[in-house]
Amino acid sequence: MKNLLLLISYLITSTLYASQAIPEVVLAIHGGTADHEEIPLSLEKEVIEGLTESLKAGYRALEKTGSSLDAVEASVKSLEDNPLFNAGKGAVFTSQGKNEMDAAIMEGKSKKAGAVASTTVIKNPIAAARAVMEKTRHVLLVGAGADQFAKDNRLEIVPAKYFFTQRRWKEWKKSQEKKNQNTQSSLPTPWNRHFSLGTVGSVALDSQNNLAAATSTGGLTNKMHGRVGDSPIIGAGTFADNETAAISCTGVGEYFIRYGVAREISTLIKYKNFNVATAADVLIQETLKPEKVEGAAIVLDKKGNLAFSYHAEGLPRGYVTKDGMAHLFIFDKEVVRSLK
Ligand code: ASP
Repeated sequence: MKNLLLLISYLITSTLYASQAIPEVVLAIHGGTADHEEIPLSLEKEVIEGLTESLKAGYRALEKTGSSLDAVEASVKSLEDNPLFNAGKGAVFTSQGKNEMDAAIMEGKSKKAGAVASTTVIKNPIAAARAVMEKTRHVLLVGAGADQFAKDNRLEIVPAKYFFTQRRWKEWKKSQEKKNQNTQSSLPTPWNRHFSLGTVGSVALDSQNNLAAATSTGGLTNKMHGRVGDSPIIGAGTFADNETAAISCTGVGEYFIRYGVAREISTLIKYKNFNVATAADVLIQETLKPEKVEGAAIVLDKKGNLAFSYHAEGLPRGYVTKDGMAHLFIFDKEVVRSLK
């Protein structure tokens, strides 16, 4: 009976939402959920170029060192250095008009993980997350402690103004106005959809069959000073386990933390034998969509099956298959390129 119910629920989920699993994938990235207002037609080409650069950096690392951990770090670093994405250089502003960044990395073999939150001067928060994983006994360092740790470990430090971009500043100003309007009408939704999202993430599988995941973000526009999202919370926005999958999420972090989204996806794969697409859809389409929460997860399993599940107008994203072919997506467009 239990198995029958399971089968029925599986069939319903897989036919209703039906993300498709893509085989033979070694590396995949996302640039956060987005709509046409955030990425107008005039920016689409640049976003595709940015995603291509990121996949190239990750794929090069995979070929050079054969390590999925190197690949996810390199691809996320590339997106952090690109002002178009809400991570590193392109991070959004807090309610105080400052930038506070979060990042996490995890390897599926050892299940070791490292993360930083609310950093302010680390050029590449993902490098700091990796250093936390490799050089400390801890998983998560925050704020001044994380910044100091990065300085002590000679990671690249920049003045806080490095993270200033006109585009994000304009978004911040606009969202401040909306926030004031929202406060007056006491809307129930905690976050205004626009000018908020855009985290970046990466998942990879190497020739040793090791999975890794990484996520980096400036968080949500207008977030409170000290607010931490899901990206650096292992099991919420980032997770990797060689027995199941590598997962990176984007969306309104508060919900991803409450539902333990990344970990839950892994659990469905592990204990219910769901494939990557169904597991991701259960969380994104079946759980978060009814809550009207925009978000996405990218999920890569140990056999190289990849799923992107998203509830949003778009999810700029890309993946590379074993043969070195890169597929980039923005809204309904797909671009295919060889990285060889
Ligand atoms: N998940 C991120 C956060 O809540 C935001 C995003 O995905 O864009 O901090």
